[in-house]
Amino acid sequence: MPEFFDYIIVGTGAGGGTLVHKLKDSGKKILVLERGEFLKREPENWDTRSVFKEQRYHTHEVWKTDQDKDFHPQTGYFVGGNTKVYGAALFRLREKDFEELVHHDGISPKWPLSYADFESYYTEAEKLYFVHGKQGDDITEPHRSQDYFFPPVSHEPRIQELHDKLKAYGLHPFCLPIGINLNEKDPVNSPCIRCNTCDGFPCLVEAKADADMIGIRPNMNNSSIQLITGAKVTRLLTDESGTKVIAVEVERNGALEQYHGDKIVLSAGAINSAAILLRSVTDKHLNGLGNSSGLVGKNLMKHNNAAMLAISTKYNPTKFQKTMALNDFYFGDEDFHFPMGHVQLLGKSNKEMLTEDAPFFTPGLVLEEMASHSVDWWFTGEDLPDPNNGIEIIQDTIHIHYTPNNRTGFERLMDKWKHILNQVDENAHLIPHGVYLGKIIGNEGLAHQVGTLRFGTDPKTSVLDTNCKLHDVDNVYVVDGSFFPSSGAVNPSLTIIANALRIGDYFLKQASQ
Ligand SMILES: Cc1cc2nc3c(=O)[nH]c(=O)nc-3n(C[C@H](O)[C@H](O)[C@H](O)COP(=O)(O)OP(=O)(O)OC[C@H]3O[C@@H](n4cnc5c(N)ncnc54)[C@H](O)[C@@H]3O)c2cc1C
Ligand code: SF4
Repeated sequence: MPEFFDYIIVGTGAGGGTLVHKLKDSGKKILVLERGEFLKREPENWDTRSVFKEQRYHTHEVWKTDQDKDFHPQTGYFVGGNTKVYGAALFRLREKDFEELVHHDGISPKWPLSYADFESYYTEAEKLYFVHGKQGDDITEPHRSQDYFFPPVSHEPRIQELHDKLKAYGLHPFCLPIGINLNEKDPVNSPCIRCNTCDGFPCLVEAKADADMIGIRPNMNNSSIQLITGAKVTRLLTDESGTKVIAVEVERNGALEQYHGDKIVLSAGAINSAAILLRSVTDKHLNGLGNSSGLVGKNLMKHNNAAMLAISTKYNPTKFQKTMALNDFYFGDEDFHFPMGHVQLLGKSNKEMLTEDAPFFTPGLVLEEMASHSVDWWFTGEDLPDPNNGIEIIQDTIHIHYTPNNRTGFERLMDKWKHILNQVDENAHLIPHGVYLGKIIGNEGLAHQVGTLRFGTDPKTSVLDTNCKLHDVDNVYVVDGSFFPSSGAVNPSLTIIANALRIGDYFLKQASQ
């Protein structure tokens, strides 16, 4: 008899890793299937050239664009998924993000649940992922049942100065909520050392709150949890009725294997989870499993993103720069009554990053000057769900279709920011931040992928129900970023984590009945 598990969890990123944590004391037999391996601690973790130019921690898998062009997606297959390299900016969506919201270029749809349904799970998520922050300064902050469990990360002097200038200008800069295991009161014993290689890099000293360190590593000696790495899930196989999955097909060491369980939870990332379902074709599911709505893989969102260098005459020796954010224009302003988006600081760029995209004749000294006199900014605007944006499997290859939308408010946000910085900060000039262009931001940049299996109450207009179970199948759930009906304009991971905790809670309640 093959071994039978209570839960099979596919993928160990923000969703899957968190669910493992939530179910760790359930007493249930859990199998975790992860296609990647543990990310090695090595000097390259903090080496700009290895990380950004050689893309050491991204897959070499080939996907295709609309124009049939090959590209390597900016995504990593490791235990912990993309949280191994994320910037750990862990934001709650705003209350209005869960409602229908009118944008200049279209409508952001209402979620089937409200912010109140997520609030306690956001609180649990912030505690679990060491989120440092301060309640009260973000003018769009949603209701909180309690303040952050960890104090805000302090600004270094150049950022504090900028903070004070922006405040004096009438804006509302606030401490960026971030998931790092930092103790500024006791730096000698603090696991995090506030280095300058955090955003986009793995953490060499394992102090970043990623899904591996939070969900997987602490459970390696838990006898009810079995992790198999190097296990790429290819398809889900159903019984004759087509309404129940009886086996998970895995490619491992060049051979196909099957694993059996009661509940199957996909958390392979918004694109790969949709791909697994689209590949699970049978005579009862000609368009893939769970796809009676025709929506599996559709409505892919990934945010309107931009990275900019603000270069001024002021020296910027900041090491850990990702400490400040602003939401003054999140829902618009007095001149423009539609959402524009979110502004936050990026990790500090260095000369090597700028070298990547500068013309070959640019002297090193110029790049050095640029890096040491710049402040790095990141802008996020909401992109709207569009059924023409999504993924397709053609001859077993993932094709990404994506046409940017809802750009009006976002362009306005960047114009505004250029104007503001130029006024408040030593005539600072904003220029595009080359190293992120195309890699995170272009159509191939899929860091904030969400929405391919949206949840809802109507099986005709959604793929998952409100417990994130496939409407069409009795025992398949999804806990990664696929479930989002809209993308909001803040980073997605805290909402993915909170939702995984919510679904875990549902499983625990079901089990105790
Ligand atoms: C450079 C960078 C910076 C970022 N910064 C931030 C930030 O500051 N804040 C924020 O909120 N978000 C950030 N993000 C986005 C964040 O990392 C993702 O939103 C989050 O990790 C998504 O979680 P997930 O569970 O949906 O998928 P992932 O974290 O991508 O996890 C998917 C997992 O499934 C595994 N997998 C995939 N396919 C299969 C398969 N077929 N079989 C088995 N396993 C499979 C993968 O190896 C991976 O472990 C950043 C991303 C990047 C790339
Ligand atoms: S800033 Fe802290 S958490 Fe981030 S990589 Fe450096 S040591 Fe790790």
